[in-house]
Amino acid sequence: MEILSIVLNEITGFLGITQALEILKSGDYAAFKTYDGIASLIYPIIPLLLLLELVVGLVYKKPQIKVYKVNFLIYIFNRFVGRFIAIAMVTFCIGVFSSYALFKTSNTWYWFIYAYIVWELGHFVYHYLGHKVRLFWCLHSTHHAPEDMNLSVTHAHFFLEAPYADTIRTTVCILLGVQPELLFTIMFIDGTYGAFIHIGENLIKDARFGFLNKIMLTPSHHRVHHARNPLYMDTNFCNLLNIWDKVFKTYQEEEKSVQIEYGITREMDSGNFIDVYFGEVIALVKDVANAPGLINKFRYLIMPPGWSHTGDHKTAKVVRSAYLKNSLGI
Ligand SMILES: [Zn+2]
Ligand SMILES: [Zn+2]
Repeated sequence: MEILSIVLNEITGFLGITQALEILKSGDYAAFKTYDGIASLIYPIIPLLLLLELVVGLVYKKPQIKVYKVNFLIYIFNRFVGRFIAIAMVTFCIGVFSSYALFKTSNTWYWFIYAYIVWELGHFVYHYLGHKVRLFWCLHSTHHAPEDMNLSVTHAHFFLEAPYADTIRTTVCILLGVQPELLFTIMFIDGTYGAFIHIGENLIKDARFGFLNKIMLTPSHHRVHHARNPLYMDTNFCNLLNIWDKVFKTYQEEEKSVQIEYGITREMDSGNFIDVYFGEVIALVKDVANAPGLINKFRYLIMPPGWSHTGDHKTAKVVRSAYLKNSLGI
């Protein structure tokens, strides 16, 4: 029977309803008005949308079953390994860098806005490096492998990506004075919104959301980020506020004339767990092994994906610039 209760706990954990169930059991319904109570009602929204998306896909058109299958396997794998390391890294970075903070913020609305902008900067740095440094791309590419967009893609991450991302984001925030209380509130909002932007076209076909597309990052922007079309490659690195994409000129809107093709440019089997999870690591090991000389071997680790010691580079920058030059005459 113990195995049954473990499975039940895992299911309620996945659905995000553990806290809400505890409040219901305690009978203290007033607790739903507290911060924790409100959060307990927000947690289940994404998992329930994910299930709805899957059901709608099954009913109306054949969904990309292999995407759900591989992402479910990844969820199970990461559930037991990645999350604990990430939590440990956040605690470690807060402990180490707090005393080096340039100044301290407080719990006011204007510091909250400041903290969110700083968080997005940390997110931009981690995400940009995840695309531009081959070693970090090995950690991030699992998230880009799915060739369809739906909420299960939220769970598609290499287990070391969360510790890597949280180390950078937490360090940037703490050094720039963001208090841990603000940081945790922002992490919650970022995590929930960061999941929502993966909503599939089964549920929301046009995800530009009108004027919101002009002032914040919408699922439409993130669909562009997941695309392998030359125009869309390596754009839209932000999560909720896309000011840093505009500052660093990586902003790209979804163009009606350029239909999104999801996935990465390498030939791969997006239904194969090993290929999705370790494919980029294997490709990097091969390139390092075949590269002549130590310096070239080292360059493969730190140069962008697509860089070649032969000079025949196929990096996103090269591919996108060539596309813009040819098709748009820029
Ligand atoms: Zn990315
Ligand atoms: Zn994503």
